[in-house]
Amino acid sequence: MAVWVCTRCGYEKEGRCKPRKCPECDGTEFRKKDEGTDGKAGSR
Ligand SMILES: [Zn+2]
Repeated sequence: MAVWVCTRCGYEKEGRCKPRKCPECDGTEFRKKDEGTDGKAGSR
């Protein structure tokens, strides 16, 4: 599961797919928030 963050207001939504619209600010731009499970200090 990924966490999506609204680039406008910072609203966070958990889901498999990118949300269509932010319920807080009606923004449509989201970025994926990394929970730090990969890409960091991983030898694999
Ligand atoms: Zn928003």
